[in-house]
Amino acid sequence: MLTSIRGKSVIVTGGSKGIGRGIARVFAAQGARIMIAARGKEASEAVLAELRGMGATAEAVACDVADWESVQAMVKATEAAFGGVDILCANAGIFPQAKMVDLDPGEWDRVMATNLKSAFLTVKACIPYFEKAGKGRVILTSSITGPVTGYPGWTHYGASKAGQLGFLKTASMELARYNTTINAVMPGNIVTEGLEGLGQAYLDTMAASIPLKRLGAVEDIGNAALFFASDEAGYITGQQIIVDGGQILPE
Ligand code: NDP
Repeated sequence: MLTSIRGKSVIVTGGSKGIGRGIARVFAAQGARIMIAARGKEASEAVLAELRGMGATAEAVACDVADWESVQAMVKATEAAFGGVDILCANAGIFPQAKMVDLDPGEWDRVMATNLKSAFLTVKACIPYFEKAGKGRVILTSSITGPVTGYPGWTHYGASKAGQLGFLKTASMELARYNTTINAVMPGNIVTEGLEGLGQAYLDTMAASIPLKRLGAVEDIGNAALFFASDEAGYITGQQIIVDGGQILPE
C-alpha cells in the first residue's frame, strides 16, 4: 500500500463513469477521500454508493469543467467536505467523432473547452490549496490519440489531448514553486461502457492487435495515476506515461 495516499483529499473530474470511476476506485482502495466531479447527478450517485460500499469517504458535486465559475464552486465544495485539496485527477473528457468536412467549428470549441481549457481551469482553482498545504499532485488523463497517433474524425480531440501535454510542460515549472507535481497518463484502448457498445467481436479483434493481447482496464489507468500521486513519485514532474499494452510499439 502507498501509505502517502491514505486520508488525502482527491478530486476526480469525470469520476462518474469509465476511467474516472476506475481512478476513484483505485484511490478509494488506498484510503483516500474522493470528490467526484461531473455534470450528471445519477451516475455520480451510483459511484458514491460503490465507493461508500468499499468503506471509503466520498462525495459528489455537479460541475462543468469547461466553466470557470463551476470549477471554482467544485473546488470550494471539496474544501468544505475535506478541508482542502491534495490531489487533482483532471480526467473529464469528451470524444465526439466528426471528420473535418462535417465538423462544426462550435463543436471544435466545445471539445477544446472540455478537454484542454478544463486542465487549466481545474489546476488554477487548486493552486491556493496546494500552496497552503505546501505540496500537491496533479494527474491529467491525456491519450495516445493526438500526441502519438491520429484517428480519422478526431482532429479536435487529438489537438486537445496533445495540447494537454503542451500545458503540462510549462505548468510543471510553475507548480514546482508550490512543491506540486503534474504528470499525465496516456491511455490506449480502455474498456468503458462506451467501448463495450462496439460489440464483443470488434473488441476481440482490437485486443488481438495489442501486444499484451487485452484491452486496458480502467484500473490500469488508475494505478498509473496512483503512482504519480504518491510520495514515492515526488521527484517526477512534467512527464507522461503511455498505458496501452504496447499498442503503439512498432511492428
Ligand atoms: P466516459 O464518457 O466514460 O466518462 C467521461 C466522464 O467525464 C463522465 O464522468 C462525464 O460525466 C465527465 N464529463 C464529460 N464532460 C464533462 C464536463 N464538461 N464537465 C464535467 N465532467 C464531464 O469517458 P472515458 O472514461 O472513456 O474517458 C475519460 C478520459 O479518458 C477522457 O479524458 C478521455 O479522453 C480519456 N481517454 C479515454 C480512452 C478510452 O479508451 N476510454 C482512451 C484515451 C483517453 P458527465 O457527462 O455527467 O459530465
